[in-house]
Amino acid sequence: MKSTRGDESLIIVMASTATPEDVANVIERLESIGAEAHLSEGKHRTVIGAVGDRNAIQQLPWEAFPGVERAVPVLKPFKFVSRDFQVEDTVVDVGGVLVGGGNFAPIAGPCAVESRDQLFASAEAVAKAGATILRGDAFKPRTSPYSFQGLAEKGLELLVEAREEFGLPFVAEAVDPRDVELVSSYADLIRVGTRNMANFTLLSELGRQGKPVMLKRGLTATIEEWLNAAEYIYKEGNHDVILCERGIRTFETSTRNTLDISAVPVIKELSHLPVIVDPSHSGGKRTLVGALARTAVAAGADGFMIDVHPAPETALVDGPQAILPGEFAELMEQVRAMLAVMESFK
Ligand code: PEP
Ligand code: MN
Repeated sequence: MKSTRGDESLIIVMASTATPEDVANVIERLESIGAEAHLSEGKHRTVIGAVGDRNAIQQLPWEAFPGVERAVPVLKPFKFVSRDFQVEDTVVDVGGVLVGGGNFAPIAGPCAVESRDQLFASAEAVAKAGATILRGDAFKPRTSPYSFQGLAEKGLELLVEAREEFGLPFVAEAVDPRDVELVSSYADLIRVGTRNMANFTLLSELGRQGKPVMLKRGLTATIEEWLNAAEYIYKEGNHDVILCERGIRTFETSTRNTLDISAVPVIKELSHLPVIVDPSHSGGKRTLVGALARTAVAAGADGFMIDVHPAPETALVDGPQAILPGEFAELMEQVRAMLAVMESFK
């Protein structure tokens, strides 16, 4: 017989008049039947998500419990990251910088940390231009095992120095579940790369540590698969997840990947998590970055992440897609103007 465990979940919406005892009572009853209870306290209402054995959950008359307004089954495979579970946008705090819920985050910096001078030149320029989060990788697994693989812990130490010097929290990738503890002890935001989106061991590990996570869309992942990956992190208890659309593999060869800009409004409908865009790894070409970044703003993304290098011709990784500090500053001027217009549409 097919197991029904976790096939379905129930969202129990508490009335605005519900007391803390009412909420505790529902959680206690769920736990007593072996179901998992996930609490979400929004500005307007408290919602409890129940995942577990469908028959056991459905047997109880939840709508008759004190303080319960309604109980809604969620049929989607992803539960807690769905808008059904939480209507309000999630706002993620990245080292003091808010992302989501109307807070736009310009993230920029070099693809990889190559040296102190290179990192500092990029960080200084992007901070001055108005970026709020620095990017830079210390672990760089590449298509060829003989290419530059990153500075590892030394790279993370340099990123910490740059954070202190320029006041920007930073994002860095964790590639292997064995590196999560190390990256988490340095970075403000941990990135999951496109090739690891379906590495469920890594995702669960990230769900069990305290730093926010940026989850890139897999090269060939559907939006539903991507949200399921986010669910792996969320259900372990880490609710600070930012999605990043970075282009998908299609038949088109004139760009490195095809930026699926429709993913932004689709995610906004399906999920409460913030979604940002990576115009660098999608277009793969310096001349395309500006247009793709502006498109992200117009589509309602919660931010973007852009490769900026002081001397792209010397870059050890992804030189052709890195923009110059001056180009980034000009783009940020345009973005500020666009954000003001977007604000007027609200
Ligand atoms: C990156 O952002 O540096 C990166 C490697 O991106 P992706 O995982 O999307 O290829
Ligand atoms: Mn790169």
